[in-house]
Amino acid sequence: MTLPQISRLVRNIPDFPKPGIQFKDITPILANPEASRAVLQILKDQVKAFEVDAIVGIESRGFLFGMSLAQALNIPFIPVRKEGKLPAQIYQYSYDLEYGSSILEIHKDALKGGERVLIHDDLLATGGTAMAAAELAKKAGGEIAGFSFLIELEFLSGREKLLPFSQNIHTLLSYQS
Ligand code: AMP
Repeated sequence: MTLPQISRLVRNIPDFPKPGIQFKDITPILANPEASRAVLQILKDQVKAFEVDAIVGIESRGFLFGMSLAQALNIPFIPVRKEGKLPAQIYQYSYDLEYGSSILEIHKDALKGGERVLIHDDLLATGGTAMAAAELAKKAGGEIAGFSFLIELEFLSGREKLLPFSQNIHTLLSYQS
């Protein structure tokens, strides 16, 4: 399956979760095993170029392909979750959203220290979420090997927030508007 075929499976939902936001819904990809396999293969090929010891996936859509990618690469998967979900000792990072703020957490013992981690999520918008995950992975002792997303909303320039962590920023599908 080609990238244009995969991109046709991204559904645009206007005004969700609030007016003015066009939500990129990847559930049609998840419902299509051939498309999901193709996505995973591309993610895997992108990561091959650099050494990665662990995948850090962001709740919740970063868990979907993040876990599969970790399995495919035979490396650990580490969840970054929203406040109050992880049961053991955590590091916390608070960051600003368009309206208000949000908190992400990682288990303090999620990494041994020195691992090169890939931060993975379904979509890069303003970059605040991925940046928070990168800060947490660093706090837990990791080095940022790169970032991977299915979708990048280029017009929100999230990439600029991530470049100070790593130049390796990979996406499958980019939108200019
Ligand atoms: P940001 O921190 O602005 O880069 O937002 C990225 C996070 O919000 C990711 O976890 C995305 O799943 C979610 N997100 C932001 N904008 C959208 C959108 N237009 N469609 C789907 N998910 C989005």
